[in-house]
Amino acid sequence: MPQAIKRQAIQESPVNPRHHVSAFDQVNSHLNKAFMSLDIPEVYRSVMQNCYRELKVQIILQRESGAIEEYFGYRIQHNGVRGPYKGGIRYHPSVDLDEVRALASLMTWKTAIVNIPFGGAKGGLACDPKKLTNRELQALSRAYARKIDMAIGPHRDIPAPDVNTNAKIMAWIMDEYGRKHGLSPACVTGKPIELGGSKGREQATGRGLFHIAHRVFDDHKLSIKGAKVVVQGFGNVGSWVANFLHDAGAKVIAVADAEGGVFNPAGLDIPKLRLYAVDKPSVAGFSGGEALDTREIFTLPCDMVVPAALGGVITPDIAKRIQAKIVLEGANNPVTPEADVILNERGIIVIPDILANAGGVVVSYFEWTQNLTQFYWDEDEVYQKLEKTLNSAYAAVAKIMREHKVNMRQAAFILGVKRVYDATLLRGV
Ligand code: NAD
Repeated sequence: MPQAIKRQAIQESPVNPRHHVSAFDQVNSHLNKAFMSLDIPEVYRSVMQNCYRELKVQIILQRESGAIEEYFGYRIQHNGVRGPYKGGIRYHPSVDLDEVRALASLMTWKTAIVNIPFGGAKGGLACDPKKLTNRELQALSRAYARKIDMAIGPHRDIPAPDVNTNAKIMAWIMDEYGRKHGLSPACVTGKPIELGGSKGREQATGRGLFHIAHRVFDDHKLSIKGAKVVVQGFGNVGSWVANFLHDAGAKVIAVADAEGGVFNPAGLDIPKLRLYAVDKPSVAGFSGGEALDTREIFTLPCDMVVPAALGGVITPDIAKRIQAKIVLEGANNPVTPEADVILNERGIIVIPDILANAGGVVVSYFEWTQNLTQFYWDEDEVYQKLEKTLNSAYAAVAKIMREHKVNMRQAAFILGVKRVYDATLLRGV
């Protein structure tokens, strides 16, 4: 009797309304404003909005229990005029085509804003890694790598970690790709340092967020020292940005993740919380604060909120109730366009994802460069080059804000679109 194949149900996330509003449409609504500001001809608007290649793959996994399950994975290449496609791989039950398209498009504008020679891509696998054993996770990751291997490669498309993926999974993907194509460390970034990963890559997104936030605080004559901050998401991005803010004297008063939240008005001990959350793995139950209803995270009185989990979490209803002066987008696409309008009307500064969280892809670029040259840099060199790259991007965005009299998100999109459009014309038809 053949065994029934169990499909991985696409689950709705309670905090994420992106299944009601298309995430790709949301990104395109920002993009359209930039097209209008730059008076981009209609045909090029379509070329720059749509994705170049969309791969959807079926993966069959035999669980250790013997059960057979069916999964779906994606790799979407949005735009490659400025260089090989680049973007992370997300493992989450709610991953779907629309979300991966949106995230791939954001990568195109992000790589252009920080002026690194990459296009934009994203990958995703609809699964809940928490329900898989290490062996099953490895089998699934290797099967996914085999299914997309014809579309990726060091000069074609270079994946990296995103939600629920990490250096260990990047190592499996590199190894699986290498079985067919020969050892190619540059086919993926965010690898373990022992296998060609870059020093500083793990904390790069958090470090970059901290760096850009610092620039904004200085420009508005605000001080990070003593500033009250709340962070949603305490994985790679959230835990590192909290760490750098804490080190600079900010008070991180609340943190929430998928399992729960913790609040301490005097400021949480972030180094201790990081150790606790690695072990658990969640911030829930941490003894250095009181339990927090995670739905309250964005509406607590504070100076800055940092969404660092999933997209679409700051809805119009939440935007009306945010009490912070600044929203620092660690996550990709965390603010819906309607919420963005409300935040603007309320004079709340939004530091957009495509600038704020670009530190990760910048150090991924450094990793790729080190892999291709087989010459490895020390930490100081990575950090200096990261700071220089982000400073240039910030200065270019600030210049457009002044010239076009637009907010930071619109300025960042204008910069990204201008660079991609110029490259498109130079390539010719
Ligand atoms: P991660 O898997 O390391 O951490 C994700 C965190 O979000 C976890 O703490 C998880 O518990 C939390 N979370 C998930 N669902 C939640 C919910 N419903 N409510 C509250 N918290 C929830 O992922 P990451 O790499 O830190 O990525 C976080 C965000 O940053 C994503 O939007 C990702 O696209 C973006 N980003 C990541 C990088 C990178 O280098 N990893 C770079 C740029 C942007």
